[in-house]
Amino acid sequence: MGSCEREVIVIGGGISGLTAAWRLKMAGVDVCVLESTEVVGGAMHTEQREGFLLEKGPFNLIVRDPAFEQLLDEFGDEVEVIAADRAVGRARYILHRHRLCKVPMTPTELLRTPLLTLGGKVRLIRGLAVSRRGIGVDASIHDAATRRFGRQVADGLVSAMCVGIFSGDSRELSLRGCFPTVADVDERTRSPLGSALSKRLPSKPRKRKRLRRHWRGLVSFREGLGALPGALARRLGSKILTNCAAEAIRMVDRGYEVQCTLHHGEQIKLRSRHLVLAVPKVVASALLGPVAPEIDETLKTISATSLVVLNLGFDRNDINHPLDGYGFLVPRTESSCPLLGVLWADSVFPHHAPPDRRLLRVFMGGSSRPDMLSKSDTELVEIALIGLSDLLHVSGNPVLIHVCRWPDAVPQYTIGHVRRVAQVRHELRQRRRLHLIGNYLEGVSINDCVRSAAHAAEQIAQDLGATSICKCIENEQSHSEAAGARLPAASSPGG
Ligand SMILES: Cc1cc2nc3c(=O)[nH]c(=O)nc-3n(C[C@H](O)[C@H](O)[C@H](O)COP(=O)(O)OP(=O)(O)OC[C@H]3O[C@@H](n4cnc5c(N)ncnc54)[C@H](O)[C@@H]3O)c2cc1C
Repeated sequence: MGSCEREVIVIGGGISGLTAAWRLKMAGVDVCVLESTEVVGGAMHTEQREGFLLEKGPFNLIVRDPAFEQLLDEFGDEVEVIAADRAVGRARYILHRHRLCKVPMTPTELLRTPLLTLGGKVRLIRGLAVSRRGIGVDASIHDAATRRFGRQVADGLVSAMCVGIFSGDSRELSLRGCFPTVADVDERTRSPLGSALSKRLPSKPRKRKRLRRHWRGLVSFREGLGALPGALARRLGSKILTNCAAEAIRMVDRGYEVQCTLHHGEQIKLRSRHLVLAVPKVVASALLGPVAPEIDETLKTISATSLVVLNLGFDRNDINHPLDGYGFLVPRTESSCPLLGVLWADSVFPHHAPPDRRLLRVFMGGSSRPDMLSKSDTELVEIALIGLSDLLHVSGNPVLIHVCRWPDAVPQYTIGHVRRVAQVRHELRQRRRLHLIGNYLEGVSINDCVRSAAHAAEQIAQDLGATSICKCIENEQSHSEAAGARLPAASSPGG
């Protein structure tokens, strides 16, 4: 069994782990990333097949944080950012009484929409315009929306939005946990409309670092989202060990020891002063159990839903619907529909399908239909085709089928989440040099993961100062050769 000491070990080579490692490398810190699979990227994984560009997990992102903007600037020569057509991105539909209705985006559309009755529309407008103080508790998104905008908005639009972002149930999700800035607006007496208008007025210059906003709205990368982890991996080079699964951690004198198994069964131990867990919550929980049981206990109370993503390619003539927008979502109230939603992939990014084809991304599972995960590919495609023929008038069979299951992949920030996160942060402060990053604490989006990773890297770099404690007991090259670990040049998720 080999042994090696680093300043920092990052467990997990998804976007969180890679971003943290990149920032640390840039700060001159000796860092090593352990990734259990053959390819890096985690959920961000793109495949090219028969002229289609298939996103297995996330499809697009929004750049909201300066740390993310900086990352994209640094990789600008390798990763080309492309923006979705804004009009397409804003044209969204929801299922309402078995038919697709456009989500109103203008006052005229609001007046005309069949999604709300006249009473529902009046209630929404009153909720937008009238000042009303929030009730100051950790309310569910559903309760907060009902109180402010009325039941119709909460059951339809808001419930669909929660399916779209969290594949979750708005009655269980916490407003403050999921949308802290919205919760702040809700808490204040000012009306949402007043708040939005005041943002447009010139205000005092803010002190905090502002986003330059190169990229507004929804974006992706020319080669698909997997391009970014691929580029990060290439620049991190031998700092990444793939096929290297962390199986146990323990505290040692000056930090942590990680026991790993390589793909042919050999075990190695690596030591570091700082340890960053950038793995899904369920893995973090298992690793922390023996060394930090109190953190593990709290993590166990954070649930997650499972998702199935079907990428289905069709002949253009087999879909008798204009697909004139982003796609549609299914609110909880339309419980007879087995789908969570369908994204019209090549309407958003035309190069995702050949000119004579269309690409639909069908989502199933989530908190409402956990049973979907255990269905066979054939069953899933059959269910999807029934829904698609009803709602989008799809007639022919798909020319391409790609099924991806994501067990426990989307954390649910249910009521009490803010308290749980505070508890975890408190416990972590008692154990300096242990860091948790990823999507289960403070944001599920890629932007959130990058932000939390950059923040952790900054703290670590500050703690380490300029001192380098790299004492590699074994030569890195001989180690990775002995381990049979594939180095990242060959492990780009883009294939
Ligand atoms: C289907 C789906 C669609 C999504 N859509 C969007 C979207 O459109 N936009 C958006 O912004 N976000 C989206 N998200 C959320 C976003 O993609 C994720 O939150 C984010 O990619 C998580 O990144 P991560 O690095 O924290 O975790 P992961 O991507 O899960 O990476 C964790 C890594 O750790 C590795 N690992 C696990 N166990 C071990 C171990 N024992 N030892 C070593 N390595 C280990 C894994 O192999 C993996 O590579 C979506 C998520 C899913 C699942």
